[in-house]
Amino acid sequence: MRAMLLDAPGRPLRSADLPRPRPGPEQVLLRVRACGVCRTDLHVADGDLPDAAFPLVLGHEIVGTVVEAGARASRHRSGDRVGVPWLGWTCGECRYCRGGRENLCAHARFTGYHLPGGYAEYTVADERFCFPLPAGYEDAGAAPLLCAGLIGYRSLVAAGDAARLGLYGFGAAAHIVAQVARHQGRRVFAFTKPGDTAGQAFARELGAEWAGASDAPPPEELDAAIIFAPAGALVPAALRAVARGGTVVCAGIHMSEVPAMPYALLWGERTLRSVANLTRRDGEEFLRLAPAAGVRTEVERFPLASANDALARLRAGTVRGAAVLVPEEEAA
Ligand SMILES: [Zn+2]
Ligand SMILES: [Zn+2]
Repeated sequence: MRAMLLDAPGRPLRSADLPRPRPGPEQVLLRVRACGVCRTDLHVADGDLPDAAFPLVLGHEIVGTVVEAGARASRHRSGDRVGVPWLGWTCGECRYCRGGRENLCAHARFTGYHLPGGYAEYTVADERFCFPLPAGYEDAGAAPLLCAGLIGYRSLVAAGDAARLGLYGFGAAAHIVAQVARHQGRRVFAFTKPGDTAGQAFARELGAEWAGASDAPPPEELDAAIIFAPAGALVPAALRAVARGGTVVCAGIHMSEVPAMPYALLWGERTLRSVANLTRRDGEEFLRLAPAAGVRTEVERFPLASANDALARLRAGTVRGAAVLVPEEEAA
């Protein structure tokens, strides 16, 4: 099968001919129909995250159809369409797994990082971590639901019942969260890089009542903010933007250093927290909510062979919505 292989951090992906993987006893073999390109893929490719299993195939927003099931896999039938998220395996035995917080399992294994990802024509995944996908989304359109949507949803829940919600970084996750937040009757304020007027216009199209530069104050105090951009300098900016009692959620897996700041920014019972990974329960809840909330994903499709272009576009911040690799489309 064709796959885009990452040999080592800092290297471009390389098109490789690999043997088609064989499913383990609890795994399914999937033919990849689409795979979203996530900022975490950039962090893995850049070597920002420890313990990646190089050489590796990135990609953890996989939409695939079941080709073959392992000896003990019986949940999904041949031909079923499933989604594979970042959380690929957990121990099931630690206090986090037993306490409903499998996202924090220290033994967890992640798709496209420790486990084979979806920048390939085929992949394998533990069937217990594959989700059935809502029918109303075509393959490429469903892919961003699996990380941008899921992590965005977990972040939105972590933001509490905030009526005025700020979103820092208006990429794949924010474009989904904005729609869910509007469906829930919240007011959305979007922050982009200064000068990104296209991003600000996109945010307004998706229901943000205000969109502006991340170094500018919003027109009024916010009740919560979610930071999707990987810039630590946004932490004091977001704390400054939220009212007393407000919450700032850092949604990314990696961020540049958070600068020193006056304690006054945190004072007033403001809460600063992160969101890590996802639980399968988040997936079940969000994949029910997304169609009910009328979430529509906006995607830019790339052939598999153009994965490096997709990553470069994501890094430059010029993707409108989400970038998605589609193996069946050939490069122009
Ligand atoms: Zn565990
Ligand atoms: Zn992701």
